[in-house]
Amino acid sequence: MTLLDVRNLTVTYAGGAAAVRGVDLRLEAGRKLGLAGESGCGKSTLALALLRLLPAGTRVGGEILLDGEDVLAMKWGRVRAVRWAGASIVFQGAMHSLNPVRRVGDQIAEPVLLHRKATPAGARKKAGELLEHVGLPAARASAYPHELSGGQRQRVMIAMALACDPRLIIADEPTTALDVMIQAQILRLIEQLVAEQDVGLIMISHDLAVLAGTCDRLAVMYAGRVVEEGPAARIYEAARHPYAQALSAAFPRIGDPASRFAPRGLPGDPPDPSALPPGCAFQPRCPVALTSCATEDQPLRAAGPHRRAACVRVTPAADGTAPLRDAPAEDSATPSPTEQDPATHGTAPLRDAPAEDSAAPSPAEQDPANGGRDARDDTPGDSPASRPDPVGAGEPEEARPRNP
Ligand code: ADP
Ligand code: MG
Repeated sequence: MTLLDVRNLTVTYAGGAAAVRGVDLRLEAGRKLGLAGESGCGKSTLALALLRLLPAGTRVGGEILLDGEDVLAMKWGRVRAVRWAGASIVFQGAMHSLNPVRRVGDQIAEPVLLHRKATPAGARKKAGELLEHVGLPAARASAYPHELSGGQRQRVMIAMALACDPRLIIADEPTTALDVMIQAQILRLIEQLVAEQDVGLIMISHDLAVLAGTCDRLAVMYAGRVVEEGPAARIYEAARHPYAQALSAAFPRIGDPASRFAPRGLPGDPPDPSALPPGCAFQPRCPVALTSCATEDQPLRAAGPHRRAACVRVTPAADGTAPLRDAPAEDSATPSPTEQDPATHGTAPLRDAPAEDSAAPSPAEQDPANGGRDARDDTPGDSPASRPDPVGAGEPEEARPRNP
């Protein structure tokens, strides 16, 4: 049976921020799903909603079926049990999630005592075993959080998440605060634990490369929606949604000299979830938007084998097997009249549009009737209003999605 089946999940915070807007996700036991997207696109909100950890006053709609049982319909007692044994979360920044004045062994033992009805001695023993399981000596149970390194604290967090043998582990940016060597260790540890115990994993990160290396499938979020989903490697190598393409291009590929010179990053910021633009929410930043994108919402549609993308340029006919970013750039710099027709767009190269070719906008792009999108693809240094942050300008660090 499907371990997790999220259907049309919506989350609106008390202030009116529509942080999650109709998300569908499925995860089988033993599988790993990556959730990607810039800071602010709703990843953590989604994770918190799965375990009903959102602040009071937040409106949540849809269904969250965990082993067939709707988390949103559960009584509180049941939710508390599910939080440890059904699913558990590993948060970013272990220092803030651990209690600084309690020994880590006691913190790991607490859920075992409460939810497994273990004796104090039994819970202590289990805590020691869990520490060894995540690669720390059982004797470290007597340490306080400040006596451990960042990587060790994150291991403690993972041990806590495993304490009640959950069916699903949600790891929200588990390695973002760690240096790269430790990051790799923690990722391998999580992978190993998932493989051994046949649990499901949802790994959240702004870093598509990390997710592609760890997960089976990827879902890319933008402004509270999934805009692309499919096999992890396929999305990383050849995303079909222009946002997913930009996210993928934002991280240099080791061993791929071409990626060092490719344009990185995306102008502007994600929209404010309490004041979303009409039409496609990505349209104001999209380098290849059509006039219709400013008014027409774009649902997910078939985008190749086991893939879906929410872009007017993606049609089911195009199977997405050809890497779009390798397509000749000239074609996209001067769209022909037929390319402006949404019905024929499945095969148009998307990725290369914002490159140097965009310095010469086509007549259609300059036409004010074309949705007022004329100036956006112009050369860097133009009107700041039309181009707040040029594609490819500045250092890669500037172009990387920000850490939350
Ligand atoms: P991510 O994890 O992808 O960075 P979040 O889920 O943290 O994104 O945030 C999504 C949006 O919801 C952001 O615009 C953020 O400002 C807003 N938000 C997050 N938490 C709250 C809250 N408690 N109250 C109101 N708005 C919130
Ligand atoms: Mg977050």
